[in-house]
Amino acid sequence: MAVRKIIRMGHPVLRRPARPLQPGEIRSDAVQRLVADMIDTLRDYGGIGLAAPQVAEPIRIAIIELPGGQSRYGELPRVPLTAFVNPEIEVLDPATAGYWEGCLSVPGLRGYVERPQHIRVRALDLSGGRLEMTFQGFPATVFQHEFDHLDGTLYVDRITDTSRLVFEEEFERYVLPDMLEETAE
Ligand code: ZN
Repeated sequence: MAVRKIIRMGHPVLRRPARPLQPGEIRSDAVQRLVADMIDTLRDYGGIGLAAPQVAEPIRIAIIELPGGQSRYGELPRVPLTAFVNPEIEVLDPATAGYWEGCLSVPGLRGYVERPQHIRVRALDLSGGRLEMTFQGFPATVFQHEFDHLDGTLYVDRITDTSRLVFEEEFERYVLPDMLEETAE
């Protein structure tokens, strides 16, 4: 296992739709090793989700791990480490909510993105079995962000108000205090 380099916005692989895996490929050593490396990489960088194109592998795999618990944004749900192969999203309720998203491939920035908050995910797991889960709230946003990577889309493409694309340092200084104040009210 190894930590891989995460490629950044501007690298052409991030803009290319990734190809689906054939069921027979999923159990291959190459794919199993890639996912093990992606887990090491996600944890080393301290992220909550990583898609294969972010380590320059243009195939449809993403991993997500939400530790859950108390954060400064409030109580967050836990999603144990899971790998999703060829995932598909069905929107169960089109009502949206916004979060300030960040991305390991767009380091140093945060942007406000609105997405549907109730989705169903269908995918294959690492042994080729079927996986089906539903998510609401913040995890629904995380899944849509990760699966966008498989289509060559970055969260910055989904920002409708570009005045809400900011550097992390300014986010901490100017945006977060207002957010916490609103939550407290
Ligand atoms: Zn991302």
